[in-house]
Amino acid sequence: MSLDDHAEELASSLGVDKTEVKSDLENLVEYSVPVEEAKDSLRRKYGDGSSDSGGPTTKDIADVSTGDSSVTVTGTVLTVGKRSIRYQGSDHVIFEGEIADESGKISYTAWDDFGLEAGQTITAGNAGVREWEGDPELNLGESTTIQLADEDLAVDYPVGGDATLAELEPGDRGINVEVTVLEVETKTIDGRDGETDILSGILADETTRLPFTDWEPHEAITEGASLRLEDVFVREFRGAPSVNVSEFTEVQELDRTVEPTEEAPALAVRDAIDSGGLFDVEIVGNVIAVRDGSGLIERCPECGRVVQNGQCRTHGAVDGVDDLRVKAILDDGTGTVTAILDDGLTEEIYGGGIEDAKEHAREEMDQEAVADAIREEIVGREFRVRGSLSVDEYGANLNARTFDETEDDPAARASDLLAEVRQ
Ligand SMILES: [Zn+2]
Repeated sequence: MSLDDHAEELASSLGVDKTEVKSDLENLVEYSVPVEEAKDSLRRKYGDGSSDSGGPTTKDIADVSTGDSSVTVTGTVLTVGKRSIRYQGSDHVIFEGEIADESGKISYTAWDDFGLEAGQTITAGNAGVREWEGDPELNLGESTTIQLADEDLAVDYPVGGDATLAELEPGDRGINVEVTVLEVETKTIDGRDGETDILSGILADETTRLPFTDWEPHEAITEGASLRLEDVFVREFRGAPSVNVSEFTEVQELDRTVEPTEEAPALAVRDAIDSGGLFDVEIVGNVIAVRDGSGLIERCPECGRVVQNGQCRTHGAVDGVDDLRVKAILDDGTGTVTAILDDGLTEEIYGGGIEDAKEHAREEMDQEAVADAIREEIVGREFRVRGSLSVDEYGANLNARTFDETEDDPAARASDLLAEVRQ
């Protein structure tokens, strides 16, 4: 039976115009929809009198709600990300991204390959609606029909998925970035199919730096390389966005060099905490206290946690390994964070290494002597701290990469303020 015959049969059984049915049918078949499935969709679309006529409602994207079970929407595909997921024991390739019309945008997941491409304006007929983290999301599956729309829409969103690192948010999919690789290392993890090698490290562009994971190591991802990564997705890692490179990501070397930004965004403590976590941020504040567990500490050789009186919470009695650390409470008037300094930064402040610290503690016959000396040195002073901020049930912790006393003295700032007031 030719497509024409199918259209003829369908048109007469539905009592509608044959040319219209034929063009719909051609559209669907062009998208690799099997002809019988296409005919079923058209029966639903034109309302086969024998089945229920209460089909999905046509809606503006902004009006789609989690209360809808299925809808028909027309919109421009903004992004298309390809991903492999394991669902009910087997691997599926799915497509995810966002679609927009003049009223707004919405995320979608396509369980079949509809051949979606960014920039296409499509009508998704009978798209399922599910709730994802409180928002509606479209589910394009076997009962969904996808047709190219006749006219393009004027949508207010960028099409294609190109973004800077600073723009990325957890949940973004089908994104393209141009970056330089600052750090990369190979790690062996216990994956869903046993031990497997992945890459992890840090990417940067002109806007910021972010951690990344490459689940299917690409050879071109080497330290110092300037690359275009097409089709990455973004997850949350310790409260901050993290770039995920997959087997479907295209990695291309760029002709230009991407210059990594030297600066980290400088934020007030309250704004930094409100962001939920930042991989690279700068905070200026006064050290108001040095917390317990600072100075000369002992760590469990197994898990690295701080041990107290020779006891690890997980591993019991252990031979602790000496280390230096500072947990300083930083206050800028809008809130507080705990800045955590590693051994290197602690040595700089303390003015000595682990051996000096042990000698010091022995002389004073007090393990706390080192922490006390550090308190003396930094409490009441203002510091500029750059590092990674995580915000979780343990509070707001800023893992410091740099920790420097601010140079501008309060008197200079007071006169700046006076100058401002006089203007
Ligand atoms: Zn332990």
